Amino acid sequence: MMKKPLSMNRSEKLFAEAQKYIPGGVNSPVRSFRSVGGRPFVASHGKGPYLFDVDGNRYIDLVGSWGALIHGHSHPRIVQAIRSALEKGSSFGVSCELEYRLCEKIVRSVPSLEMVRLVNSGTEACISAARLARAYTGRSLILKFNGHFHGHGDSFLVAAGSGLATLGMSDSAGVTKETSSQTLVAEFNSIESIQNLFKKHGHEVAGVILEVVSGNMGVVLPEMDFLRELRHLCTQHGSVLIFDEVMTGFRLSMAGAQGIYMIQPDLSCFGKVIGAGLPVAAYGGRKEIMEKVAPVGPMYQSGTLSGNPLGAAAGLAALEIIEEDDNSFFQGLDHSTSHWANAMRSHIEYKSYPVSVAQIGSMMTMFFCPDVPLNFKEAKMADLERFKAFFWGLLERGVYYPPSQFESCFLSSQHVSSVMEQVTEASIEALDEAFEGPN
Ligand code: PMP
Repeated sequence: MMKKPLSMNRSEKLFAEAQKYIPGGVNSPVRSFRSVGGRPFVASHGKGPYLFDVDGNRYIDLVGSWGALIHGHSHPRIVQAIRSALEKGSSFGVSCELEYRLCEKIVRSVPSLEMVRLVNSGTEACISAARLARAYTGRSLILKFNGHFHGHGDSFLVAAGSGLATLGMSDSAGVTKETSSQTLVAEFNSIESIQNLFKKHGHEVAGVILEVVSGNMGVVLPEMDFLRELRHLCTQHGSVLIFDEVMTGFRLSMAGAQGIYMIQPDLSCFGKVIGAGLPVAAYGGRKEIMEKVAPVGPMYQSGTLSGNPLGAAAGLAALEIIEEDDNSFFQGLDHSTSHWANAMRSHIEYKSYPVSVAQIGSMMTMFFCPDVPLNFKEAKMADLERFKAFFWGLLERGVYYPPSQFESCFLSSQHVSSVMEQVTEASIEALDEAFEGPN
């Protein structure tokens, strides 16, 4: 695969100017490429599996707007759906039929949902779900997991990594001690960790929130016994179990990760795929709990643009395209992703590199540590310098891999086998270069 030094003159110029009026020149921190060093490219447009920058470079996009683009960039059906909706108006301030249809489709697709409410971002969905868990139980504490990300709501900006974090040490300036003391942090996949916290605080835990399949520390899969025990503890103690399926919802199956692991949460959060690149997210669950939401119940949550017709049209089109494929849609995605994953595993074994590959469906992470991590502590043992070299090696070969070790790749239905062959070839070369230097 041809490696070429990237010309990024215009990107660099735009980014330098943007830093004068936007913090760090970005509207969301990971876009700054700080974790891989160097400067980010600035997008000009996207088509299918490709993303183009303002200097005319073309990249095979493995990020897919962080999971939103399950049909790739500017899919004609989605573009058309948005266009038709736009011609009738961009926002009404009252309900419209499109948003009703999207809600109905979401509820019908996920067996644990009886009702759903649309919001505008995954952050909003998770904040609302936590508030609802508190409203429903009349309790204060939220339990989350080390390394899991649920957007930037104050209660969730608490990480662990040490025993102290379990007591609620904040990860972001500006979050008060009072707020972070209401968040408990457990270790993912550790039954002991959740049993201990429930033993001590069980009667105060309003809700437990987790990424069933985690994508925000790289892809980390759950162990079945751990999920079962978590469900059991929540039921036993009357705590609301919240699955954050912002990444996994409608990506791993129509019923999300819960449809694969067959564990029912009380509430779920969605985002990304259900908006097909427009700002749509949702939270939903059992009717008894959802009826605590205003105007039926006392938990207040609202949004000027919630249920926006453009977002609803885009999301609806995205879900319809998936459904038309008669269950083979997700198999197809899994096939192309696992093909790449297996090719990498063979090469890693052949060369004895200390690298491991975690994959489920269209989500995949190459960890620069010998064993696939089970939790954030293990993920953090990855060799970040080698990861950086790998990232830039791929970019120079025209493949845009997530610019952080602690993220997942998200493939789309447009990543057909000829595209994935190029990704595999480039990944092998970039890996060799990261370990053996340029040849
Ligand atoms: N939950 C999870 C699991 C996520 O991955 C994200 C974003 N990557 C969020 C919540 C927050 O979503 P948003 O960026 O739309 O606010």
